[in-house]
Amino acid sequence: MAKPLSASKLVEILRAEGVTVHEVRGWRTHNRNSKGPWGPVNGVMIHHTVTSGTASSVDICYDGYSSLPGPLCHGVIDKKGHVHLVGNGRANHAGLGDSDVLRAVINESKLPADNEADTDGNRHFYGFECINLGNGKDPWPEAQKEAIERVSAAICRHHGWSERSVIGHKEWQPGKVDPRGFTMDAMRRRIRDRLKGAGGGTKPAPDPKPSPRPSHEPFPGAAFFHVGQRSPVITAMGRRLVAEGCSRYEEGPGPDWSEADRRSYALWQQKQGFSGKDADGIPGKLTWDRLKVPESGK
Ligand SMILES: [Zn+2]
Repeated sequence: MAKPLSASKLVEILRAEGVTVHEVRGWRTHNRNSKGPWGPVNGVMIHHTVTSGTASSVDICYDGYSSLPGPLCHGVIDKKGHVHLVGNGRANHAGLGDSDVLRAVINESKLPADNEADTDGNRHFYGFECINLGNGKDPWPEAQKEAIERVSAAICRHHGWSERSVIGHKEWQPGKVDPRGFTMDAMRRRIRDRLKGAGGGTKPAPDPKPSPRPSHEPFPGAAFFHVGQRSPVITAMGRRLVAEGCSRYEEGPGPDWSEADRRSYALWQQKQGFSGKDADGIPGKLTWDRLKVPESGK
């Protein structure tokens, strides 16, 4: 239970978490507070918009529709990972959901199935709409997923919550499917790791011993693999993935860590017998050592 963040504080903590923030029109006073209560706040809810295009999606989330007036969330997360703030206060995003789920979020315990629509979610959740068609095919760029992770972690950090206070709309309201295209469990794991202070994954573990096979690239640590990382090690890794028949590359591989690298590496993890969260495409030491990436001479 917590008092909602002020507009200024929200901007401050998002920027402190490394988020690029755009303030849209009169978002600081744009809300549905005249229609119902706002707060205490208990968690963060993630949605997809079922739209494409940043400017039009942001406008829809600010203005809403005649049948569902805006704001439709607090922030819109675009494909580049920028966050457009459209509302501050009560927003029309969560609708009626399951009181058992709210209790689990408050207690930060295991989520039950959402099979009731008996509780006003707009009172209790910060809402973030992510631009995605929600058809299971529209990609989720790593920069966008990283922004979801950062936004959620920033709010959880401020309120003293764990990653269990972040849920998907589909975990709240019966019949909802958003967000679609990644699992909330995987996202919560990223948020948990970021809250530990590492950010973007787990901390790089320095190799305690000299590599037994010096001709192979030692594991650089999971946190090495993030958008913005550029290294000949990534090119060398990509070439090995292609050689192993694990390619999701449309071009490359190249030195910049990309979604194609992640998806290709996920194929390699699956080939090694991993599944679910353990095949999320972020290299781990075991699968990395098995891949035998030649030293790149970086
Ligand atoms: Zn939704």
